[in-house]
Amino acid sequence: MINMTLLSFINPLSLEGQEILSEKIDLNSIFHENEELIRISEYFSEGIISDETKIPKNYGELALKRIEWFFREKNDKDFKINEYSYFFNEAITEFDVIAFHLLAQAIAYKFNINSRESKLFAESQNRLIEERLYRISTDIKHELVEKVLNELLYNVNTLKWTDLIDLISSKKILLADLLVKNGEIILNEEDFREAFYEDIKDWPERRISMVYNKLVGYQIKELILTKIIVQNTEDYLKNIKEKLATIEIHPAIKILGGELGDHLNKLNEKYSRFYSEGGGIGEGSYEIAKLSKEAFPPCVIKTIEGVKSGNRNDAIVLFLTSFISYARLNPQVFRRDQTINVSDVDPELKITLNEILPIINEAAANAVPPLFEDQPQEKINIVSKLGFGMHSEPKLENEGETKWYTPMSCEKIKLHLGHLCKPDKACKKIGNPLSYYSLRKWQIKNDDKGEVNQAPKGKKEEVKQIPKDKEVKVKQAPRGKKKKLSKHRKVKK
Ligand code: SF4
Repeated sequence: MINMTLLSFINPLSLEGQEILSEKIDLNSIFHENEELIRISEYFSEGIISDETKIPKNYGELALKRIEWFFREKNDKDFKINEYSYFFNEAITEFDVIAFHLLAQAIAYKFNINSRESKLFAESQNRLIEERLYRISTDIKHELVEKVLNELLYNVNTLKWTDLIDLISSKKILLADLLVKNGEIILNEEDFREAFYEDIKDWPERRISMVYNKLVGYQIKELILTKIIVQNTEDYLKNIKEKLATIEIHPAIKILGGELGDHLNKLNEKYSRFYSEGGGIGEGSYEIAKLSKEAFPPCVIKTIEGVKSGNRNDAIVLFLTSFISYARLNPQVFRRDQTINVSDVDPELKITLNEILPIINEAAANAVPPLFEDQPQEKINIVSKLGFGMHSEPKLENEGETKWYTPMSCEKIKLHLGHLCKPDKACKKIGNPLSYYSLRKWQIKNDDKGEVNQAPKGKKEEVKQIPKDKEVKVKQAPRGKKKKLSKHRKVKK
């Protein structure tokens, strides 16, 4: 028999979690030292008791650490999960439920629903559930998963794939993850045997169980459970945001929202892998840094200097917008296995507004005739290609409405915008203008150091190959990016 608090340990939005919240929360004391919290955190911490900055001393600090551990796991190469081991012991449940709800209110008050803070909150909840389930013993976990699912779904035994349509359409769950027969999702071995009886009737018992466990097993239930809770967390943030229009928020929540913003900025400066990252062609060639015009490829220079009618739109909206934005904010895009947004690197959009858009505007003004004079709607298309939807300017709350368009390959440019491609020697070794940019930045940097890579005049120039041992290692990507969803039809809220 499982301990009941485990339900809210996994799902802080459960009925039990809501009871804990209404009984225990005291907004006036969220920044007061809490001896019980300190005792639990110290008791279940592994090797960090000597560093008291790592022990949360009140609900506010626990809320910040609830995001911090996930941020560091994603960005800090020296991260050790055991620094936060108190989060993975059931003893923390009541404190954690309150920290979850405090964070949700602070984020909804201070940030937009599509902000990086809101996304981090939902993603961290996803990861927390995964890690907590992973650490629970198998028998208890199976019983727990059944109980949590039964609370989340009207009827887990007759679940249809259409009941999860919102999770599927947002790619939180892939249809390919599910085993479906006649529209119903197979979630237990008995149903599997019945549904596929004709196919498996002659198989030995062991094989049937083995195939079932491989195709379905408990992992599918855990996946569904986790993604529904993440979905409900996102919906919860939206609900709070809507209510904030009519109710006055407690001052402690406002303070927590401000502290979270400051804390994330500090973490970003300290750990973010989007800053000061070298590797690849040479140290520094993939760094997030000010744009270096002298490293731009011929096709980009030609576009900025002015393209003629006919190809203006595609050259500026499709090609230049993606090249400039990725060259400035994510030059490693083709080396990462993870999708990111503009605001992950440029949280206040200052770089986008002050460095990226001015170059695109310059190219638009140099076009013949100037692009925005006869086609002002192309400004909206440029914003859309940066991932901020169909709006006249990029705003954080619109981010994610469209996709941040990745730079075209040389092959595509030659095919669709052939007049822009006037290859030089560096072009011979690359397949994308962005690779050209990184290569030339590296060459220019080495030239400055006196390590000249260019061949002396009159001799054939050789472009240095990317040394294999300098490949950048990037951590495994989390599951797909979350989109805005409508309410889940058959999932209990
Ligand atoms: S080869 Fe590629 S990088 Fe070089 S000019 Fe042509 S399109 Fe641009």
